[in-house]
Amino acid sequence: MAGRWRILIAAALLAAGVPAAAWAWAGVQHIQINKLAGRNVPDEMQDFRNFSRPMALPGIFPDLWKEADPDESPRHYFEPDRLPAGFDLKQLSPDLPTALGQMNIAPEIIGIAPWAIMDLMAKTTEAMRETNWVWAAQCAATIGHYVGDLHMPLHTTRNYNGQETWQHGVHSRVESEMTKYFFDVNSIQPEPAVYLEDPFSAIIEWTAHSAELARTILRADDMAKRTANGRIDTETYYHTLWDLTGDIINSQISHAITALSSLWYTAWVNAGRPPIPPAFDELPTLSVHSGVGIDPRTPGDRIDAHGSQPISRYNIIIWSVMGFICLVVIGSSIHRGIQARRAKK
Ligand SMILES: [Zn+2]
Repeated sequence: MAGRWRILIAAALLAAGVPAAAWAWAGVQHIQINKLAGRNVPDEMQDFRNFSRPMALPGIFPDLWKEADPDESPRHYFEPDRLPAGFDLKQLSPDLPTALGQMNIAPEIIGIAPWAIMDLMAKTTEAMRETNWVWAAQCAATIGHYVGDLHMPLHTTRNYNGQETWQHGVHSRVESEMTKYFFDVNSIQPEPAVYLEDPFSAIIEWTAHSAELARTILRADDMAKRTANGRIDTETYYHTLWDLTGDIINSQISHAITALSSLWYTAWVNAGRPPIPPAFDELPTLSVHSGVGIDPRTPGDRIDAHGSQPISRYNIIIWSVMGFICLVVIGSSIHRGIQARRAKK
């Protein structure tokens, strides 16, 4: 019975159009954000610009760690609209246990992206101070992913997939399908990186701004759907959605680059401006948090927008086969029972 329910639930989720990938932006935008942030650091840190190449691809690793590390997903979002109305985000502590006490909510519910960034800022600064540049670059590249995620507005709202407003699937429509199709890297215009006196306050400000934009994006999805007579699989829908949100996407990706290069610059200044060595070819793929690898997903795996519930096609096949075997076993024992009764007669 459990198997049957699992198949039914999985089928219902697939039919409901759960996003095919829970990557904020398509993977390519994460790579662009890391790469262009590396080039955007100030002149006095210019030797770090050579790091932009080996640090680009690791921009997608954190999404791949989710598979093996159950604690990874909450680092990719923060949903302030789960807090009571009037809650002042500016009062939040940069210390995670203290902040969780203030918010009185489980980390996997609300997400902890700002604190994951703070944790890695400390590690990056320390590693630069100790001239452990591989570790510094690994932590810094991982920061890039979480900064990118927080700039994707639907990573900052509890209604992240439109599930509360009958807009299911909006997450991947915006960040994957639409952005992949329309986004042009030439429209990225980052501002110069700056030293951040108070990185945590800055991160919270970026998040609050992103959360405001989430409402605009959800409204735009509704309007685009109406324009396309309810058909969200049409060119009309996607063109209208891009007309309504393209500027937001361009400015958020540009700002993610400004923000990230500012964080890297801040870590380097706080580390005492250590000399930067020549860059290396590539970085290790292992998680900076737990050491898990980046085993590729099975093609066809589906995860929800929080990225925590893999629903593999293989799972469905296994449960289907088990269900079939159960039916055969039950069927044959009923058959044997009938035959035995007939034999008695
Ligand atoms: Zn992510």
